[in-house]
Amino acid sequence: MADMQHLPDSPIGPSGPIGIMAAMPQELQALLDLMPDESRVQRGGRDFWCGHLAGREVVAVLSGIGKVAAATTATLLADAFGVSQLWFTGVAGGLGADVRVGDVVVASALLQHDLDASPLFPRHEVPGLGVSRLHPPAALVTQVADAVTDALSPRALAPGGPLSHIHLDTLGLRAPRVHTGLIVSGDQFVNSAEDADTLRHHLPDVLAVEMEGAAVAQVCMAFGLPYAVVRTISDRADASAHVDFERFVRSVASPYSLAIAMALLKEVPRVVPDGPEGAPQAHS
Ligand code: SAH
Repeated sequence: MADMQHLPDSPIGPSGPIGIMAAMPQELQALLDLMPDESRVQRGGRDFWCGHLAGREVVAVLSGIGKVAAATTATLLADAFGVSQLWFTGVAGGLGADVRVGDVVVASALLQHDLDASPLFPRHEVPGLGVSRLHPPAALVTQVADAVTDALSPRALAPGGPLSHIHLDTLGLRAPRVHTGLIVSGDQFVNSAEDADTLRHHLPDVLAVEMEGAAVAQVCMAFGLPYAVVRTISDRADASAHVDFERFVRSVASPYSLAIAMALLKEVPRVVPDGPEGAPQAHS
């Protein structure tokens, strides 16, 4: 582990590093293991890991769970670390009829399901913004969905593929399907069929529920920062939502997140040439 360092002196803009956020430690470690030149910077009680991944400049950070934790972290990535875009990768509860455990949802819209300032504002509307749904850039959504489809293709999961160590059949999972649509966030772990039904009732097109994405979206909108939210479905937001959660995160969500991040990074211009084995090297 490298020593603590000062904040990088990079301006906000297209030249800044890629910010990669996850809520839980299990998801970040595999990624950090591939960042040999990472250095740790502490801000706001969080560790920001600055380094290179696949030849791209990256700042990786754990937000912690919930909207405030996510908003704080996203603000720091935007304002203190000058990231050029922000990717959130994590797990979520599936709400869409065909969104099953092991599938992946890419957000094309995000909404805070627990935000309700009615009758002053319509339910779910963000006071001051005049909208309830926030939309990541459409081109980035398409790019991310394509990268996810590619990274989690049957070929990647088949023997000899990079994800062949994930035994979907023994976990009772089907090959992942990639969905694009509405993800909702709130400060609540949804684990009852009744609560899941209530969300579907108010938001019939909802695909997944989690606790951070819409907060990240609002911060990125404020900073004019492109962002993407990608979620592997860990549960169906019902009474058994907590069962095997940890096992699922470790054995499926974490390698999925890493594969997705690596596939996405390939789309971003390289700032450092890869070494002979693909390892990042120092600037020359
Ligand atoms: N077991 C974890 C807690 C997980 S909280 C621990 O002990 O630390 C759930 C996390 O996964 C949140 O970050 C949230 O974004 C996501 N999530 C997964 N399923 C969810 C659900 N059914 N409802 C809300 N958030 C969910």
